Amino acid sequence: MSDTSSLSPPLSPKKLSVPKVGVVSLGCPKALVDSERIMTQLRSEGYQFTGTHDDADVVIVNTCGFLDSAKEESLAAIGQAMKDNGRVIVTGCMGAEPEQITAKYPNIMAVTGPHQYEAVVGAVHEAAPPVPDPFMDLIPEGGLKLTPRHYAYLKISEGCNNRCTFCIIPKLRGDLVSRPAAHIMYEAENLVKAGVKELLVISQDTSAYGLDIKYAESQFKGKKIKAKFLDLAEALGSLGVWVRMHYVYPYPHVDGVIELMRDGKITPYLDIPFQHAAPNVLKNMKRPAMQAKTLDRIKAWRAVCPDLTIRSSFIVGFPGETEEDFQFLLDWLAEAQLDRVGCFKYEPVDGATSEELGLPEVPQDVKDDRWARLMAVQQEISMKRMQAKIGRTIPVIIDEVDGEGGANGRSQGDAPEIDGAVYLRDVPKAVKPGDIIPVLVEDADEYDLYGVPA
Ligand code: SF4
Repeated sequence: MSDTSSLSPPLSPKKLSVPKVGVVSLGCPKALVDSERIMTQLRSEGYQFTGTHDDADVVIVNTCGFLDSAKEESLAAIGQAMKDNGRVIVTGCMGAEPEQITAKYPNIMAVTGPHQYEAVVGAVHEAAPPVPDPFMDLIPEGGLKLTPRHYAYLKISEGCNNRCTFCIIPKLRGDLVSRPAAHIMYEAENLVKAGVKELLVISQDTSAYGLDIKYAESQFKGKKIKAKFLDLAEALGSLGVWVRMHYVYPYPHVDGVIELMRDGKITPYLDIPFQHAAPNVLKNMKRPAMQAKTLDRIKAWRAVCPDLTIRSSFIVGFPGETEEDFQFLLDWLAEAQLDRVGCFKYEPVDGATSEELGLPEVPQDVKDDRWARLMAVQQEISMKRMQAKIGRTIPVIIDEVDGEGGANGRSQGDAPEIDGAVYLRDVPKAVKPGDIIPVLVEDADEYDLYGVPA
């Protein structure tokens, strides 16, 4: 027998001091995708990650600056990392205004803005130089993800061409920049190869995809694909996994995607942030694609695809919103019969133009009251729509199993982390997270379903 020990790579002394990075990721799914990209890059260079600040060589804090409350949360996270470790790099939305951070924490090592992956990675190189190691682990095909293995966010563009008056995202992230369709398809395919069963398509304005690059074609496996919402949806629909569309506006070309949903190519779910319904509030908000005909469009969509789930979010108490406007919104909701609704009380955001419109502020107690009234109306609607599912057999993607017959998962109408769940009993031992199984719905409340494998 030959001695193979000499063939093994000698354990490099440097291997013992591979730099460790702590990552704190705050904010929306888009920020989470940014964190994943940064981590994938660092991992490919041999960095390791740690869940605690004190044993990290450097800590990255990916911040959210959307609302003042989010900024406070971000500053608190930076403060904690400074206290525990002291070697901190800040990135994300708050990084677009570095003085807010450096005024409070002058000893921060670097501050970079959103999507400046290379700058973040460069700052990490300076803080804790990489240790070259030809024997380091290979990166999994789908990159490193902070989401569970069976679902993944797929970012198709950055930035936004709209100028909603309550929003500072275009200021922070700039105008729309779409990724070529082929890049998205290669990433999606790799994710699917790595075991992902559900792709969550995100951007600031998904239906505007490709506008900035004039819907340019790119080549994916010998086939040209246009950078257009419908064309991309069709291509993603061919991958054989759930494809869930977030942040879609009701432009006319969305109608084509509803047909793909009817045909089972795309998950019958639309996340459309309507934000309001009253025409003058929408005008003051400068919302895109908002017309009186939206209700007709929703009805037409449901006629084509009766299983369509629509989730939306609304803002109450926007400056100038009258009781009449609010009542209009309640009546609109009663008519629209949306499945899932989130509601926010308007908060002024530093730098947003809504504060410059000179409109009367809505007092806090009125905002609170409108929020409670909206939620009460919607809960009744959601309850009825959920109860209509009792007795049906629907596909459910499994998120967690307890090993004793209990499990929870989601129907096609439930996006992870925002919507409800399906709680299951009597689940066979062989069922594991990521499996999609038929489930008989036995009960429902306004958020969740309860059932048993069919
Ligand atoms: S569509 Fe409006 S709310 Fe959404 S990111 Fe663009 S400007 Fe902001």
